[in-house]
Amino acid sequence: MSQEVTESADRAPLRALIIVDVQNDFCEGGALGITGGEAVATAIATVVRERADSYSAVLATQDWHIDPGPHFSPTPDFTNSWPEHCLAAQPGAALHPAMDEVAGLIGQHFRKGHFAAAYSGFEGRLAAADAHAADESGPLLGDWLRDANVTAVDIVGLATDYCVRATALDAIAQGFDTTVISQLTAAVHQENAASVLQELRDARVTVLSLG
Ligand SMILES: [Zn+2]
Repeated sequence: MSQEVTESADRAPLRALIIVDVQNDFCEGGALGITGGEAVATAIATVVRERADSYSAVLATQDWHIDPGPHFSPTPDFTNSWPEHCLAAQPGAALHPAMDEVAGLIGQHFRKGHFAAAYSGFEGRLAAADAHAADESGPLLGDWLRDANVTAVDIVGLATDYCVRATALDAIAQGFDTTVISQLTAAVHQENAASVLQELRDARVTVLSLG
């Protein structure tokens, strides 16, 4: 690494973009499709294409279930239990096709929820993009970010009121300067989105509106 890069790294905080769970099952037509999910996927792809260079890392998290116990239910309440979704290595767990053209700009994938509910991306562990099985050997997201000297994170993705919320609260709790870009998220329960964003602001998350 050149001296120039090292010096600029000393001056500016290193910022990562965390793309939360932009997976087929969370978009329209998926097992747990969120209204606006596809639009969010498309908008995030544009941001990645245009701004990936401004981040020191661009990461994606994925819900990646094998047997998550009562997270799945045949009679889900859509609050604590859900229809089956994001089964490991199945099409529903893949990132939405709108992300395909920027797949090469997403440097790392962190997968979570193999055997229990895991809303926060910080419960995710690094996995190879083409790995199919549960992999419990990779570093946790927070440890990986600290090892990469990342101190600030921008969080986008699905869903505002579940995995984005949990990921942002964990990011703050772990000491990261944390921003949620609200237009690049969509909520399962849209009526709860405003109160969730206020909860995040109250927790010292920056909630950014673009444009
Ligand atoms: Zn899940």
